[in-house]
Parts: sequence; structure tokens; C-alpha cells
Amino acid sequence: MDVFDFASLPFVNGAVKYVEGLDFKLDELFSERAFEQVRERGKGRVLSAIGEGLTKEVFSDRVSAEKELLSYPVARILVSCINDSYLIRRYALAEAKSAYEKVKGLTDDGLKELALDFNIEPEINERQVIIHFTDYISYANVIHEPKWKLINRNMEHGRVTLTKEDFSRIMEEAVRKRIESSLPLVVPPEICASLENYLVEIRNNLVARKSEFSIEEFKEIMPDCFPPCMVHALSNAQAGVNLPHSMRFALTSFLLNIGMNTEGIMELFKVSPDFDEERTRYQVMHIHGATGTTYTSPSCATMTTYGNCFGKDVLCGRISHPLNYYRKKAWILKKGKPVGN
Ligand code: SF4
Repeated sequence: MDVFDFASLPFVNGAVKYVEGLDFKLDELFSERAFEQVRERGKGRVLSAIGEGLTKEVFSDRVSAEKELLSYPVARILVSCINDSYLIRRYALAEAKSAYEKVKGLTDDGLKELALDFNIEPEINERQVIIHFTDYISYANVIHEPKWKLINRNMEHGRVTLTKEDFSRIMEEAVRKRIESSLPLVVPPEICASLENYLVEIRNNLVARKSEFSIEEFKEIMPDCFPPCMVHALSNAQAGVNLPHSMRFALTSFLLNIGMNTEGIMELFKVSPDFDEERTRYQVMHIHGATGTTYTSPSCATMTTYGNCFGKDVLCGRISHPLNYYRKKAWILKKGKPVGN
């Protein structure tokens, strides 16, 4: 790999070594005018991660590739100064998604070099990539679609065969994990202070992003009446935690049952870092009855069986279904009675 590859894959060990070999001191990166564009691009990386995702940059020469490469450590420092777990997850995912596009276009040698950087030893032929099943599980276990379950894969002698596209998706997950687990960095307070102008803009965007979800979507319904399990699931979805399939189904069907429309639910899941619009729309439409069956959200007994009953309160003791909780609480609030009565 060369500097042009490093500019798109700045998290590989070779890129780190390349930066170490450049002729400047780290603190100059955060203070010197010569690095103003690099700092702006670093801020841009973080803002894009909060927004619609990283844009693909084109590097016409070595200097612009080096600037792009240097903007990565700047972005990591900015994220670390803010030290917000939602931002860290979102940033790591945005970098990984951007890397995925680059990985898909790598030559076989480039793909192998990248995999080895993550201690994955692949066999690569014209159309397929074969990896050890433990590597597969390490990264595929957070992808919820059925095809990613190990039993649905072609495995021989402990090795799993994948298309190059699916292997690129595995590498995306490896990148996400590497970046997320390495943040936040320990940054001296004086460096964060010198970056305050950039941090203000990022914080403002972050606050705006976090507040996009919520009240607006619930205009027609009553969020105060949600049962604890759904409040828990909503706050996880909002924070970018991947919900287990059973909880995703429970939350989506609950929201549809109480009258939220499809677009409202799409908006709600959009804040999740692993949001895939097409897949989410398909799932929501499916639960909504696009295939002829309208699903009702699961009962408390089913929720408990799947480990999705969180934070039971007094009212939970008087109902057996999250929808009944919602109706009862709405009735109680309307009558102005205390919830415990
Ligand atoms: S008892 Fe039912 S409504 Fe209450 S938190 Fe558990 S699943 Fe939700």
C-alpha cells in the first residue's frame, strides 16, 4: 500500500508508520497555520459522521493524499476531546462504511495485505475469499441478517467461503471494531483547549442530532405512556446500540400498533449508526403487513422469554402486555390518578 491507499485506509498499521515518518511535530498539527486545512478536514470527518456519512475524497497528488491521511488523527483527537459514547460509535461506523467502499475496489494483493493487518489470513481466488471460522464469527456476530449466521455459510475444515463483497463487509466490521475500541484517546487538556473552535461546532451538531429523534415523531401518541421495556429499547436505538432482532421486532410492532407511521419509525432507526435504509424499510413494511399479516407486538411473557423485559415497574404488575401498559397509563394520566393506584 502507498500513501494514496493510506489516505483511504488511515487506520492500518502502515499508515500509522507513514505518519510517524513525516517531518513535523504532533503539536504543530493542532496549532500551526500550515495545518489549518488538515484540521478543517478532520472536523469535517466528524461532522459528516454525525450527519450523512463520510464523503469520498479524490487525491490528485501526494500532498493532498497526505493532508487527507493527517486529518484522520485530527478527527480522532476531536472525538476523544468530546468523549461521548454515541459520537464514538457513530464516528467509528462512518469511517468503517467509508473504508468499505475502498475495500471493495482493492486488488487481491491489497485485500490480503489489509486482512493480514487485522491478523486474518485469507485465501483469495478469483471470486472468493476463504477465512477461518473464528475470524468470521468475531466480526459477523453483530450482523443480524440470517445469511450471516454461521450455519448458513459454506464451511469446510473450519474455513468459511465468502464472496469478495461479503468479505469486504467483514472487513468493514473489523475496521469499525478497531476504531471504536481504540477511542477515546487520552488527550492532554491543552490540546483540547487549542481545538475549542472546532469542538464547539461539533458539539452543537451532536446535540442537534441527538434531539432530532423523539418528540416530533410522537406528536400523535404519548411517549410518557411507554412501558419501561420500550423506553429502554428506544434509548438504546437512539444511542446507536444494535438491538437484537427480537427487540427490534417488538419495538417496531409496538410503535406501529400504537399508531406511529412507517416514516416515523424509519426516522427513529435512522439515528442508529448501523442504519441500512433499504433493509429497515423492508423490515418495517413486513411487520406493518405488507405481506398480508399485521403483527401485534409480543406479550410480556414473550418479552421475558427473549430477555427483553427491562425495568419492570408497579404498573407492569397489573398488565400482561406492553400495549395494555400503554393504554392503562394513558387512562391513568387522563384521569389524573396516581400510577400506583
Ligand atoms: S412487564 Fe411487560 S410492559 Fe413491563 S417492562 Fe416487562 S415486558 Fe415491558
